[in-house]
Amino acid sequence: MSARDPAAPPGGPAPGALDVTKLALGDVPLILMYHGVADVPEDPNHLFVSPARFAEHMAWLRRRGLRGVSISTLVDAMRSGRQRGLVGITFDDGYVSVLETAVPELARYGFGATAYIISGRLGGSNEWDEGPTWPLLPADGVRELAAAGIEIGSHAATHMRLAGVGPEHLSAEIHGSRASLAALLGTEIRGFAYPYGSMDAAARRAVREAGYDHACAVEASKAEIGLMALPRIYVGQQDDATRMAAKRLLYRGRIALRSRPGGRAPQTPAAESR
Ligand SMILES: [Zn+2]
Repeated sequence: MSARDPAAPPGGPAPGALDVTKLALGDVPLILMYHGVADVPEDPNHLFVSPARFAEHMAWLRRRGLRGVSISTLVDAMRSGRQRGLVGITFDDGYVSVLETAVPELARYGFGATAYIISGRLGGSNEWDEGPTWPLLPADGVRELAAAGIEIGSHAATHMRLAGVGPEHLSAEIHGSRASLAALLGTEIRGFAYPYGSMDAAARRAVREAGYDHACAVEASKAEIGLMALPRIYVGQQDDATRMAAKRLLYRGRIALRSRPGGRAPQTPAAESR
């Protein structure tokens, strides 16, 4: 349940403020998950949207009276009950094309976003994926992204699955990546995104204990949803305005479906959890 308490004492939560540690399904915000933004000849892992498609998505948000924001902005707004009309925009992995193409488009609308960077792969590529690989931002590029107003979060140190791994890996991937990105940027790193959306209770605990304020998952059940597992919806090249509207309408229903015993939302391609 969310903690909306109209009789909250002065100094207590503002009216409409959410207890974000245990989000009710109806309070789960819409958070879009992107990877790269570029015209690419071959994209078997469905990681890219074209610049034209991305522009269409941003225009769609504006037409619907919605504002794209970073996840820290979104979570702060949820805490103070001012989240209405805000949509989280995220980019996983830190592809070079985010800086080149998405940033100018976001700026046109005054939108914010969060990029989740893999601290141990700066200047590398997504070699964990089968198929074509794409360049990841080097250290300077990550600094440039931050200077352009994009929030930088951690996407772990090496992009490994975190569900079921031991404490040493959890510490290196979660705590270690936060420390390196903080050193790189000279700022606090508030957000984390689980690679592949892979997490369990131990991973969520490790994220909280490492000092992160919040973390993005991909799919999460009602029992898992909260500040350490904010669900996101995959958006891709196939998503025109009609499909975006449908996704906005249905995303909470999909979480409810997944949360049934043995429940699994229909149509969950692997591409949705990179
Ligand atoms: Zn990733």
